[in-house]
Amino acid sequence: MSEGQAIVEVGRGNGKSTVWLVRGSEAGKKNKVFSFASQEESPDPVNADFNTNLAGAGIQDTLVSRHEVAEEAARRWKGNVGLLWINTLHDYEDIKRVMINWQHLLSPNARVVIHGCDQSGTERVIRESTGSLGYFTYEQSVDTTAVLAIDRCTHYWIINSDEIGICRHCGRKRNFKRLARETIETESRKRQAGRKGK
Ligand SMILES: [Zn+2]
Repeated sequence: MSEGQAIVEVGRGNGKSTVWLVRGSEAGKKNKVFSFASQEESPDPVNADFNTNLAGAGIQDTLVSRHEVAEEAARRWKGNVGLLWINTLHDYEDIKRVMINWQHLLSPNARVVIHGCDQSGTERVIRESTGSLGYFTYEQSVDTTAVLAIDRCTHYWIINSDEIGICRHCGRKRNFKRLARETIETESRKRQAGRKGK
């Protein structure tokens, strides 16, 4: 990861992973670590644990812990994210939302780390993100943690009569019929949610 890129943790749990991330960053290029709670966390017990864990770690210089919810933070975010760390979230919709909120802020060489791939929601997000409609490639997994990279191929689609495209460079498959339908569905979901901006 390059200098000046941020590490973003969403869903910080009790802060142990945060301490670990900061330690790793301090040993390396000293990237700032931003830690955000996901929307669903109940703030009180989590934050008490979180703050206790951080207080003893002496890592204030590298860590930027915000009380802001991750989704709000993503909306106002400036700069590149080199590592998106998705922690403690296991629900399909929650993880998906984090991915959608942060995806466009990732630097081209960024990695996305997702915990809990033994959970069905998590597993589904990873499958979709690296599948024919996804924008990521699967890099590796350690225990129940998966590492994804951005698909950097400039695809060259050879599309057959069934509207199935196969990239001449990387071999990725994309169903263009399904892609068109999902785009329409996503757009109408956005309109229903009444989200402003973009
Ligand atoms: Zn390709």
